[in-house]
Amino acid sequence: MSPQSRRAESPGGSDRSGSAGRLVRGAVPQPANALFAEMLRAARELLAVRSPLDAELMVSELLGTWWRQQPGPNGRPPAVRRADVEELVGEGLVEYAAGQGSPAALALLSGVACLGTARQAVKAERAALDLMDRGVARPRWAEHAGAVAAGDCYVNTDAYGDRDEVICVFSYAGQEEHALVVVVDYNAGGMVKDGWVTSQVGKLLSYCRDLAKPDRPKATFRQVDSPNVRRLLQSALTITETIADPPVSKSFPAYHAFIRARIRTLPPALPRGRALVPAAVSAGAGTAEPGTAEPGTAEPGTAEPGTAEPGTAEPGTAEPGTAEPGTAEPGKARPGTASPGHRGSGYQGPGLGSATRAAAANMPGLIGPGASRRTAWRRDRRAMLVAEFLASDEAEDLSDRRAASRCADHIVDYGCEQDFGRPLRVSPAKAETFLLDWLPRKVMLSPAEQHAMPHVLIAWARWAGAKSGLDIAAISKTLDAVFDAISTFTSVYRDPASFGIEPGLVGRLLPDRDLEALPRRAFAFGVLEGTFRGTDLSTLDPASPPDRRLLLAADHDDPLNGQASPEHLDQHAALAERLWHGDPPELWDAAQRLLDLGMRRHEVVHALIQAIASAGQDDRAIRLALASLPRDPPG
Ligand SMILES: [Zn+2]
Repeated sequence: MSPQSRRAESPGGSDRSGSAGRLVRGAVPQPANALFAEMLRAARELLAVRSPLDAELMVSELLGTWWRQQPGPNGRPPAVRRADVEELVGEGLVEYAAGQGSPAALALLSGVACLGTARQAVKAERAALDLMDRGVARPRWAEHAGAVAAGDCYVNTDAYGDRDEVICVFSYAGQEEHALVVVVDYNAGGMVKDGWVTSQVGKLLSYCRDLAKPDRPKATFRQVDSPNVRRLLQSALTITETIADPPVSKSFPAYHAFIRARIRTLPPALPRGRALVPAAVSAGAGTAEPGTAEPGTAEPGTAEPGTAEPGTAEPGTAEPGTAEPGTAEPGKARPGTASPGHRGSGYQGPGLGSATRAAAANMPGLIGPGASRRTAWRRDRRAMLVAEFLASDEAEDLSDRRAASRCADHIVDYGCEQDFGRPLRVSPAKAETFLLDWLPRKVMLSPAEQHAMPHVLIAWARWAGAKSGLDIAAISKTLDAVFDAISTFTSVYRDPASFGIEPGLVGRLLPDRDLEALPRRAFAFGVLEGTFRGTDLSTLDPASPPDRRLLLAADHDDPLNGQASPEHLDQHAALAERLWHGDPPELWDAAQRLLDLGMRRHEVVHALIQAIASAGQDDRAIRLALASLPRDPPG
């Protein structure tokens, strides 16, 4: 988007970060006070600022400092989650500033009270009031900071539905109007990837309205309902905050706190049951509620098998931008009727009246996948879609029907589970992400499937693209992307055989074919073959609890020490369950760090069991305990 981002320059020289914020090990990471002193020095600039917007952006950038302390050593994910670091370091900063008691400290605290996490904000507010009571002078902007009114919201969706640019307009009681622009990327799990602020609101909006350029024929720009924007941005930001190493833009950390705070000022959704149902979809989502779909009104050619069933309809079948009442071309969408582009299930109250429906249909568009992840594409509907594809002209040339069918299953599963229930959505970026990122990481393919996959994906892109109304140019761009990716796919897809684990064993450890889980599941069990108490271990299923227990007992079969106690096996079983599911992610990261130190497998398992036991029941405490392993780092 064109108009220049506000505050591209950082408040006090750009690369202050990273210097003093070393996290020392321990149950709670404690940054050195040097970091806080440095931040407080930078906060002096807040005293010279007049505009509350400038002040908020400066504080946001200060709070974003520790977002850049990634990744962890050896290219591994950081040991401590970003959100935990942020919370802890931010609270430390608040305490430090409260202790300093200078005008700069008060300015910083006033900013954190608007922009910090809920806990930080409460602490900062209290500390700021305390300093004011003691007569410390507060900057003029502080009484306006954070006191913004949310104005109109808009969404700009690209032709493929790969990403939404969400624009929210704010002002300080009508003054200092500014727009926050947030980019949500659906090929990256629907996370917030970028964001910025501009005060040139009019210029930005007119630029967006002119977007219908020849090369972006189907990009849509529309005004949307702010509670829906809030829901979309909230869920998207949560994804960014929970991914270990989110692929955000370079400038994102500086805006993170600002974005979070602005989302909080958007009006929340009306109570469920009488309001809009969440969960429409960005590209081409209609505006009627799930549950109002009437099969007879679906556009010919876009209806899916089974669209008569509300709540499971496929959003990708609607042409982008055509389902919007008031903005659609005549004849393409009918206000008040649902296009097939709807989904969502289980949200609407049982007795939504037609007045509510009509009201919903007249609301500006529902957007974003939001809570729609809960939508289930049942197995039988997925199978029907695959069958329809395999019977199509596009799939005619696929010679290995069995492999083609499995490949199509993976494509549909990916679309349903990773692309917000949109198996028919086709785009170059989606195809690339699926082929080069998802498959090599997450799916175990047979050699025949590896060979067939690119051909099946090409056939699928032609079939699904046409079915969902994508134009020829966009489909051929997608085909080009697949062709370009084929050689890379062949080299990056790592055959499970190359892990040095026998195929039979791989099958036992990956009943769900989750390739990524292989090393940690193999680690969870010391032995998976051989004989123990007359049982052939290779016949046991490591996914089943009783079999798992026997495998773990076999691992403790030591002629010198005797057998493990039932309590000890309970602990192992609990850990094996966690390792099986990778829960929490810090667990396997910690295991790898300990293995890297040369510890033996069984010792590592015991260290993990101990760390979890010492942390108690609290999830966050468990994650922090694992993140702080090893306890006494060498050197
Ligand atoms: Zn043991």
